Amino acid sequence: MAFSDKLLSLKKEVLQESAPLFKKVEEIAETNTLKVLDAMRECKVSDSHFNTTSGYAYDDIGRGKLEELYAKIFGAERALVRTQFVSGTHALATVLFGILRPGDELVSLTGKPYDTMQTVIGYDNPSPGSLKEFGIQYKELPMEEGKVVVDKINHIVSRDTKLALIQRSRGYSMRNPLSIENIRKITAEVHRINPDCICFVDNCYGEFVDVLEPTQVGADIMAGSLIKNPGGGIAPTGGYIAGRDKLVELASYRLTAPGMGDELGASLANNRLLFQGLFLAPHVVSQAIKGAIFAAGMFEKLGYKTLPLGNEVRGDIIQAIELGSAEKLIAFCGGIQKYSPVDSFAKPEPWDMPGYADQVIMAAGTFVQGASIEFSADGPLRAPYNVYLQGGLTFEHAVIGIMGAAQAIEDLQS
Ligand SMILES: *Cc1c(COP(=O)(O)O)cnc(C)c1O
Repeated sequence: MAFSDKLLSLKKEVLQESAPLFKKVEEIAETNTLKVLDAMRECKVSDSHFNTTSGYAYDDIGRGKLEELYAKIFGAERALVRTQFVSGTHALATVLFGILRPGDELVSLTGKPYDTMQTVIGYDNPSPGSLKEFGIQYKELPMEEGKVVVDKINHIVSRDTKLALIQRSRGYSMRNPLSIENIRKITAEVHRINPDCICFVDNCYGEFVDVLEPTQVGADIMAGSLIKNPGGGIAPTGGYIAGRDKLVELASYRLTAPGMGDELGASLANNRLLFQGLFLAPHVVSQAIKGAIFAAGMFEKLGYKTLPLGNEVRGDIIQAIELGSAEKLIAFCGGIQKYSPVDSFAKPEPWDMPGYADQVIMAAGTFVQGASIEFSADGPLRAPYNVYLQGGLTFEHAVIGIMGAAQAIEDLQS
């Protein structure tokens, strides 16, 4: 037997208890699938949009259609969806560098930004090429008890603030992700204080978790990665930006060159992968969230602290579990890796990852390198030994992987 009787009976209990939560997640997936299908009809998507193009790729109808579709689904005036974005960080940085000018003030309303964004900002020191090196001023509002203190936004946002950065997902911290309602309140408060302040949401891991996106509740612009939620596990690489017309245009001049903007850029990857991935995304995100709910339920029963709790409303696809020891963290990742479709024979080991203070361990047997919409887990080797679990193209895989992780920990103790 792959899994002990104890774990199999816990699994049964968790699946039963989670049924009402799963139902809610499935309803959101259905609403979002309808939203995508309606937009595909309105945009008249057809297989003539699936071709690759070369060279400058002027008038690339597939690229243009994909961007029209993203804009429609996200309730935005315009979108930039490109495989030329190497990652989410690249898309986010393109927005910041496209819009901000020397002397402008940038504020973060969600405390310390995601690790890679700190380097973009020049957070601790003006790293080469960072915003700080270009004379952008940076300030932040720390989160309190894992939440944005809306009443304190007026302490930091003023008439002089050009752009407010709002990070939806927890990233790799133990705070809560922002719900769509949180984002609505935060952006309303920023715009009350300064109607010209640009609200920019880092939407990584947030797409299709709810039935609305940040650009539908007050955000002026947002960006994310195609190897996370909106790529549906099919997009081979890339990122997106969506928002107000003029702002996306400014970002496009940073991606390519002033004057060129979004009119160039070959669809080297088969565009079908991006269209089909977007079509699958609402469902795939629901599979990942159901997996996260199951993981929280299982590990709560096994006596661990989880964030969010199994029955909490979700704002992203990440599940954190406090494992309490390095040995358990390594075993957990080994269990996930064992039941991965790729590199399942490998044993993950902690390593010194560039840019991180502590060693990090990762389990990732993914088809697309580093794709975290695929089932994966990672965590820094430091107390209290949190593991961050995310993704899952199918719920079945997530269940099996989580059982594998629980079994690997049980095997340590016997
Ligand atoms: C993943 C992520 C990013 C971007 O990371 P990439 O690895 O560059 O795609 C940025 N912000 C948050 C909150 C994220 O989760």
